[in-house]
Amino acid sequence: MPERSFLSWPFFEPRHRELAEKLQRWCEGELPEPSGDLDEDCRTLVRELGSAGFLKLSVADAKHRPDVRSLAIARETLAYHSALADFAFAMQGLGSGAISLFGTVEQKREWLPKVASGQAVAAFAMTEPECGSDAANIQTSAMKDGNEWVIVGEKTYISNGGIAAFYITFARTGEGEGARGLSAFIVPADAVEVAERIEVIAPHPLARLKYDNVRVPGDAIIGEPGEGFRIGMETLNLFRVTVGAAALGFARRALDEALSWARNRRFGNATLADNAVTQEKLAEMALAVDASALLIYRAAWQQDVGGTDNRRAAAMAKLHATESAQRVIDASVQMHGGAGVTWGQKVEELYRDIRALRIYEGASEVQRQIIARDLLKGAGK
Ligand SMILES: Cc1cc2nc3c(=O)[nH]c(=O)nc-3n(C[C@H](O)[C@H](O)[C@H](O)COP(=O)(O)OP(=O)(O)OC[C@H]3O[C@@H](n4cnc5c(N)ncnc54)[C@H](O)[C@@H]3O)c2cc1C
Repeated sequence: MPERSFLSWPFFEPRHRELAEKLQRWCEGELPEPSGDLDEDCRTLVRELGSAGFLKLSVADAKHRPDVRSLAIARETLAYHSALADFAFAMQGLGSGAISLFGTVEQKREWLPKVASGQAVAAFAMTEPECGSDAANIQTSAMKDGNEWVIVGEKTYISNGGIAAFYITFARTGEGEGARGLSAFIVPADAVEVAERIEVIAPHPLARLKYDNVRVPGDAIIGEPGEGFRIGMETLNLFRVTVGAAALGFARRALDEALSWARNRRFGNATLADNAVTQEKLAEMALAVDASALLIYRAAWQQDVGGTDNRRAAAMAKLHATESAQRVIDASVQMHGGAGVTWGQKVEELYRDIRALRIYEGASEVQRQIIARDLLKGAGK
């Protein structure tokens, strides 16, 4: 049972505590077992999370954008139990976020209920072979042809590539230079070619996509032409804290695994836990976990109710939680000795699961840049 005392912090309302409890019970009793078929496992997770009602949290309703504290609690809880379950949950939000935040009434009506019920798997297609962190340089183009848009280009590292029902696709429409000339589109998956499936150290559906004169109707655009960069960045900003929350779930699990291992691993008449060096390590791990939790739930609260620009707080939360989770997991692996690097051990799995979170949705270096720029904007004024 993961540590839950943070739920008494003032950032939360009773509905957050209820969610944590309900999802915890679901994870313990109903989390589907992996079948060995990754795509099928992902589809099943999306379907099951949808029918249990949890995916409703990922999409906007008629009045509200998604509640970041709920998303963060959900991701922390799921990640503690299963990286793939967290992935399936998270991508429904990120993949439909542009529709939730900027879609028309018709676009919301067509897609969000399917995303929330788990009937449609969602995906977010921004990265290209020649541009990742530097999203303002997107080269995929979308040209107007009569009442349609024609999209040409390539996207890569697209999560849910191959199983998605639609890809929110960012393309250059040329209203201005760089970031000012991009737009966002809803592109049904059957129009897009999956050029390559990409295998990564923590397996999940991931692909390179080809857009070979893909035609979508004029009303497939989200927002106005030229607004794509802002739409992409606001979507990423909404979910940034939740990447930290997933890292927090991994770190908490690694700490629990370390505690249990240290208590049980015997050294003569003592255990590993009796060793002062081990105790110091455990204390450092717990400190890192709590600091991440504070940063994450502060940023989530600011986003939901604080009414302030939380870009700096969200960047700090993602940066600290992902970087420190890597260290906590590494410490747990070290404490496990040879068992820590053995296939099938939970800490070995966590060691692979955490790595990409320091790279995607804004690498750590990009988060540092966001924090520094925000500080400098205010400095000396
Ligand atoms: C598992 C996984 C899933 C992904 N899912 C998606 C998805 O669903 N949709 C999508 O669009 N993309 C997705 N991505 C792509 C991801 O967002 C990019 O990998 C990321 O933006 C980095 O881009 P890049 O790989 O091209 O690296 P680059 O942009 O080439 O950066 C390489 C490295 O340079 C450093 N760096 C970058 N910027 C700076 C800077 N300003 N200052 C200093 N150093 C810097 C960082 O260390 C960075 O890791 C995914 C990636 C992975 C690994």
